[in-house]
This record gives sequence, C-alpha cells and structure tokens, in this order.
Amino acid sequence: MIIDCHGHYTTAPQKLQAWRDRQLAGLADGNRTLPGPAPVISDDELRETIQGKQLKMQQDRGSDLTIFSPQAAGMAHHVGTQKTSEDWATVCNDLIYRVGELFPKNFIGVAQLPQSPGVSPANCAKELERCVKQLDFVGCNVNPDPSGGYWQDPPLYDRYWYPLWEKMVELNVPGMIHVSSSCNPCFHATGAHYINGDTTAFMQFIQGNLFKDFPTLKFIIPHGGGAVPFHWGRYRGLAQMQNRLLKDHLMNNVYFDTCVYHQPGIDLLAKVIPVDNILFASEMIGAVQGIDPETGHNYDDTKRYVDALPLSAEDKKKIFELNARKVYGPLDAVLKKRGLI
Ligand SMILES: [Zn+2]
Repeated sequence: MIIDCHGHYTTAPQKLQAWRDRQLAGLADGNRTLPGPAPVISDDELRETIQGKQLKMQQDRGSDLTIFSPQAAGMAHHVGTQKTSEDWATVCNDLIYRVGELFPKNFIGVAQLPQSPGVSPANCAKELERCVKQLDFVGCNVNPDPSGGYWQDPPLYDRYWYPLWEKMVELNVPGMIHVSSSCNPCFHATGAHYINGDTTAFMQFIQGNLFKDFPTLKFIIPHGGGAVPFHWGRYRGLAQMQNRLLKDHLMNNVYFDTCVYHQPGIDLLAKVIPVDNILFASEMIGAVQGIDPETGHNYDDTKRYVDALPLSAEDKKKIFELNARKVYGPLDAVLKKRGLI
C-alpha cells in the first residue's frame, strides 16, 4: 500500500467558501450569529470535487491512500476570534470526514485545529478529540504561527502548548507542522512562509526539552523539513553546542515528508535523514502545480523521485507505508475497520 501522508481538500465545493465568506462578512458587521448552519452539500457534489482530481491523480501516479486535511491556506487562524476558528474548523473537518466515508479506500482524515493567536491551544483539545474518536481521523495539522507570519505566540517547546501536546499523546495522534496563509507581505505563503514554518519548528524542537516531557509525542515536518536537511550539519552542531545529539534529542519524535519537488532534493533528503524518519507525501493538489520542463512530469509527482532512490525495497516500503502506519497511531485500526489491511 502506498500512503501519501500529506494531501489537502483544495478542491472543496464553492459552497464551503461561500459559507466562509458569510462568516467573515458577519464578523465585519459585528453579527456573530452568522454564518448559521453548515453548508448543505450533497454526496454527489462532494464526489464531483474528488473524482476527476485527487482520486484521478492517486490512480495516475500510483498511490493508494491519502491522509487528507482541509486546505491549509484556508485555515487562516489569524482571522476573527476563537469562535470563528472553532466554527470554521468544525465545518471543514466534517467535510473531510464525508470524503473519507465516500471514498474509504482512498482518504483518511487529519484535523484542522481551531487555533487563534493569543488563545491557549487548550481550546483545540475538544475538536481534536471529536475528530479522532467520532470521525476516525488519525492526526492534526498544527500551525506553529497562528498569527500568519508575525510569530506572536510562544515557541512550540513552551508550556503554553502543553495542553494540546497532552491531548495528542492521550489520543496517540501526531501533528503535521503546517502554517496557513501569510499576512506578512515579506513572506510569500508557499514559497517562504511554509518553508520558514517548517525550519523554525525544527529549531524550536532542538531548543526545548519537549520530548523529554512527551517521549511519545510525534510531529511530521512537511515539505521535506524546509531548510533542515540541507543544513543538517548546522543543526547537528547547534544541538551539540547545547550538549545534545539530534539523534537522541528528537529523532524518535520528528519525521520528514517527501514534498520536495525535484530529484536532487529527494536524493539529499534520503541521504541525510534516516529512512525510518521519512514519510511519503506529495501535497497534491497543492502548492506547486504544473509540469517541470526538465523532466516532462508534474513537480509534485513525488512518487517517481522516491522510486528512483538507490534504496532497498524494504526501505522504500518503510517510506511508502510502514513509517506512516507507525507514526499515525490510530491508522492501523482505521485501515482494519475499512478492510484495507
Ligand atoms: Zn500542506
């Protein structure tokens, strides 16, 4: 089985965005009762947004199952209040659940959290629990910067975040570090803000003692870990200056995905990062669309890069399947429930 651990519902029906627009318009008017009930979207409408798109791409590119979450840029935690984020996360997560029900062999949910700048992440516990216990979700996206490019909340090792980490440990689900849209014009969203978020989170994990307090807490750093693998020597050295070794300090807790959109980048990732810490992912349909004129293939068709790695079949199976089943605690149970293993 080939598990893509990083996909977003970027093709969600327009009715979802219309609901969000009403929510934001209500905020602007000071009318907090808007937008009212969840959007009414039929199963056929949902199928239509998936069949010719994510599902077709899975089939064309040879993956089987996508660990699927709401559109990352759409989370926009910086907008409105805690209540705004809670209502929006609920609506988005419910749609992800329905996609998983309609296509049980192909999609399993990961939650959008109702984060809000300056609001304790303790407010995320309830929605995360609902998603894992009632909707069969297997993880969540954690935005390390809910302010959208201004980094106003404490670093991830701060006790500020502990209520969320406690809930993740209790539910045995990992978090994918994932910023949302950028409201800082200095940071292009997918070109700078995303990669900054990945790199910054990794350094924060080096700085703190988070995994001493939470030995089973797990994170996936997407987009190949941002700048981290390329600067692995720097990070090993910085850790050593704090009298610690990266391999002991965080490599039982931090994983990297393969959303790197060229062969030399994947080659470097696999050379530097232990194979046990790499999870296959493409983030399709996502940040970088289009065909690379140098290869004739889509940039985000990452399976072909992993296929081309000089690794044993056993190691590739870890990247494509086994590592995801290890990191996403409830995944095997959901796969069994759906008859997939
Ligand atoms: Zn993403």
